[in-house]
Amino acid sequence: MQSVLKKGILTIISVSLMFFAAVGYAKDRVYRTDVVVVGAGGSGLAAAVSAAQNGAKVIVLEKMAIAGGSTNYAEGLFAIGTKQLRNDGFDISKSEFYKQIMEYGHFRTDARLLRQFVEESDTTIEWLESLGVGFDAVKMSYADSPVWHLVLDYKEFHHGAALVNRLLDVGDELGVKVMYETPGTSLIYKNGAVQGVEGVDAKGNKVIVKAKSVIIATGGFPNSKAMIDKYTRFDGDKIIGTLPLQKNGDGINMSMKVGAATEGWGLMLHQATRGPGVKPFGDLFTMVWQPALWVNKFGKRFVDETAVFSFVHAANSVEHQPGSFAWEVFDQETFDKYTKVDGIEAGIGVIIPIGTKLTNLEAEFAKSEKDGNPNAVRANTIEELAKKMKVDPKILKKTIKNYNGYKENNLDKEFWMDPKWIMPVKKSTYYAIKIFPQAYVSLGGVKINERMQALDQNDNVIKGLYTVGCDVGGLYGDTYTLFASGSAFGIAQTSGRLAGADAAKSLK
Ligand SMILES: Cc1cc2nc3c(=O)[nH]c(=O)nc-3n(C[C@H](O)[C@H](O)[C@H](O)COP(=O)(O)OP(=O)(O)OC[C@H]3O[C@@H](n4cnc5c(N)ncnc54)[C@H](O)[C@@H]3O)c2cc1C
Repeated sequence: MQSVLKKGILTIISVSLMFFAAVGYAKDRVYRTDVVVVGAGGSGLAAAVSAAQNGAKVIVLEKMAIAGGSTNYAEGLFAIGTKQLRNDGFDISKSEFYKQIMEYGHFRTDARLLRQFVEESDTTIEWLESLGVGFDAVKMSYADSPVWHLVLDYKEFHHGAALVNRLLDVGDELGVKVMYETPGTSLIYKNGAVQGVEGVDAKGNKVIVKAKSVIIATGGFPNSKAMIDKYTRFDGDKIIGTLPLQKNGDGINMSMKVGAATEGWGLMLHQATRGPGVKPFGDLFTMVWQPALWVNKFGKRFVDETAVFSFVHAANSVEHQPGSFAWEVFDQETFDKYTKVDGIEAGIGVIIPIGTKLTNLEAEFAKSEKDGNPNAVRANTIEELAKKMKVDPKILKKTIKNYNGYKENNLDKEFWMDPKWIMPVKKSTYYAIKIFPQAYVSLGGVKINERMQALDQNDNVIKGLYTVGCDVGGLYGDTYTLFASGSAFGIAQTSGRLAGADAAKSLK
């Protein structure tokens, strides 16, 4: 009897041990690799492919169920000296462009790093072409240079998503392992070096990836109100990220915890509207990219509205207003011009090109009104419109009278805007759409050297740690370099390419 009991107990113990061993295994999944990349967006995939090409074993942790991050929505990369530009006869030199970028940032940027990104930009395009990514160089807006290298389609994917999917396929061929729904949560830091990363999978299991190098590529913090409030000069209640992508600065925070220095905090702003019935990049949204009359919360005009031709400037002017919002005011004639007659004058990249007719504007306006959106209002009189805008009717009427007069006298007495852009507000129905600044991506993050290695407060290299893409700091002054169209995407690819190669070569 005793021996049966003993046997039974032993069986229970050994089954339990097996069970716990299995659970234990399931709970802590441990991997060993050469390079682990945190983030499978544009820069992370470039880093992963580049490291694998140079002989490294690579694992990529991705927070979301799909790869690509905001790169899926990006269209073009900045580059100078490419065959596309030579074919177009565009002959501005790298040095000239570099000097413009430095001046625009008021020399508050990392001069060596920027020089390297300009210098390497054409090599990045050639490298991507060698991997099967195609490009066409175009102007982003009529005011800019044609340095925006639009990604050509791949399979059923367009623009940034085409590049992402091509890099995923190449990575697959090179043996890169991507683990989805597995956010990196902290760095493994031992004996003065980063030696891997810990994360958690979709089932809540801990994932430990031990590696010789970690490349942080989590795409910045456009969705973190806390980080916008803490680190930038902006108000996180007033400015939200364009797309809800859960890019909360994870990689930057992990790096700071092991002593990384940071610099250059900011946001890449653009103008937008929001509220019930508004679709991102829909017709109401696109309408506030147009150069119609803009007034602030007091009903006063505040800017030459052709600022819309550089969206970062337009959004700066809105953010700078009391309350950090403004209104676009227009009449039925302007409504018809953009919906039926000429189409839009300021495009949103190539997704919504110049000349597009906003044929859904009426339906979106009607839906917004029905849903009670206070940010899109219309009325038969200016007084009524002003009430809906909560603006003093007398001031709004005066602003409109003056503005209309500038057209008649062919002189914008307030801001010297070319009068050809004045769109008189005369014919009912009258419309107003509230304009808010929004963030495409964040600027600023970890301080790095020219090898993309993270630096500590004393500019010493943090061994084993690289930073790429929108997690990097020091690349912009107070405003994104929109005239060097595609800077963020170009830098993401170049930093990824260089970090991946460096991490792989450091193994040898
Ligand atoms: C609508 C839109 C259009 C744009 N168009 C352009 C353009 O034409 N040209 C341009 O230069 N820039 C453009 N941008 C900005 C562009 O997205 C960036 O330039 C660049 O592509 C970002 O690359 P990235 O690798 O830094 O970030 P992403 O490509 O966003 O990659 C970051 C990845 O990290 C993942 N991640 C986050 N946290 C974790 C974590 N803890 N663990 C694991 N993974 C994590 C994210 O899910 C994401 O997949 C645009 C942005 C938007 C929103």
